[in-house]
Amino acid sequence: MSTPAPTPAPTPASARKSTARYDALIVGGGFYGARLALMLRRRFDRVLLVEREAILLGRASLNNQARVHGGYHYPRSILTSLRSRHNYPRFVDEYGDCIDRSFPHYYAVARGVSKVTGNQFAEFCRRIEAPLSKAPAAVARLFDSTRVDAVFEVQECAFDAVKLRERTSRELVDTGVEVRTSTEAVSVRNAPDGARVTLRHAGAESEVLSSLVLNCTYSRGNQLLEHSAAARIPMKHELTEMAIVHPPDELQGAAVTVMDGPFFSLMPYPPRGLFSLSHVRYTPHCSWDDNRSAEQALACAQSRFSHMAHDAARYLPCMRNTRYVDSLWEIKTVMPRSEQDDSRPILFRRSAELPAVITVLGAKIDSVYDVEDALAQAHSS
Ligand SMILES: Cc1cc2nc3c(=O)[nH]c(=O)nc-3n(C[C@H](O)[C@H](O)[C@H](O)COP(=O)(O)OP(=O)(O)OC[C@H]3O[C@@H](n4cnc5c(N)ncnc54)[C@H](O)[C@@H]3O)c2cc1C
Repeated sequence: MSTPAPTPAPTPASARKSTARYDALIVGGGFYGARLALMLRRRFDRVLLVEREAILLGRASLNNQARVHGGYHYPRSILTSLRSRHNYPRFVDEYGDCIDRSFPHYYAVARGVSKVTGNQFAEFCRRIEAPLSKAPAAVARLFDSTRVDAVFEVQECAFDAVKLRERTSRELVDTGVEVRTSTEAVSVRNAPDGARVTLRHAGAESEVLSSLVLNCTYSRGNQLLEHSAAARIPMKHELTEMAIVHPPDELQGAAVTVMDGPFFSLMPYPPRGLFSLSHVRYTPHCSWDDNRSAEQALACAQSRFSHMAHDAARYLPCMRNTRYVDSLWEIKTVMPRSEQDDSRPILFRRSAELPAVITVLGAKIDSVYDVEDALAQAHSS
């Protein structure tokens, strides 16, 4: 008969390592994660926000086109347009100190090859009650009238992601959300009353418990689910390039969007005091339906600025005077159903395998309000 193993001496309570417990853990410190952490802090005592980068709002929330969508962009998805019409004034009022509205904004509708005509676009704006007027003649003359059907002046502004970061960081401190940067959430397991989350910081792993986990990791949402043995959510990822440029003098600091189809946008990019140039055909460099090739795709990306400017100059000849500075590279993630109608629905999905985990994907900065509504509803039901 073998000798029974000695019973280990009980660990004194003072030496026992207790796992920190939170009411809510938000993974991902982009604008969505930060804003939702603030919302949850109003409801709960212990809220933790973890971000794998060294700073908050450093990924898609910074590397984007900075347009606060006023509904004009989606003539093929009236629902998305109406949500923007609803959220635009809310966002602009609340974040007035992070907004640039110092520039005129012109939308031009291409002739023949556009999915809408100038008249259809004007009718669409009337239906969604989006302010629209004819662009001044001096502006309309800048466009090639053989390729452009109509030019309108619209009311749409830009946000400054660095100001948003400064403001949200202050608010997180003031409201007592615990923030850990350079900290990655590696995986999640079910635990009594919630989830056990493994975090990695400076190469060392630790665990925390939380009743609720919000997966606000945008393009990496599936990675966290996969490492947690939970089912992936269909998402489409694109490696995107926004060229950062000096605009042509002729435009005098105006924003221009030519639509609706494979056209381009020139928008102020407030964090740099410059403009971004994006092109429907050239901004996406490649796409895939999971996260695996993201780093590889980023490593071999080559700018397509000259293609963007060359094509844009066919509609707006002065675009050939655009001067390139550098590019913002980011992974853009959308729901596959957006491909059909260019819509931008939000994703708000509880994991079947990990009931404490909700994955969130916001398509636009202002759709954070729709996510907040969904979260409030989930908590009241
Ligand atoms: C090219 C481009 C142009 C766009 N143009 C516009 C526009 O003009 N107007 C508009 O409204 N919207 C635009 N968007 C969309 C907008 O940027 C996003 O909807 C918004 O930024 C999403 O915010 P987020 O917080 O979900 O994502 P992010 O800002 O990317 O935040 C996610 C965070 O999660 C972190 N993270 C990932 N995995 C982990 C992990 N395991 N642990 C800890 N942290 C993790 C990341 O480091 C990141 O900081 C654009 C997006 C792109 C890419």
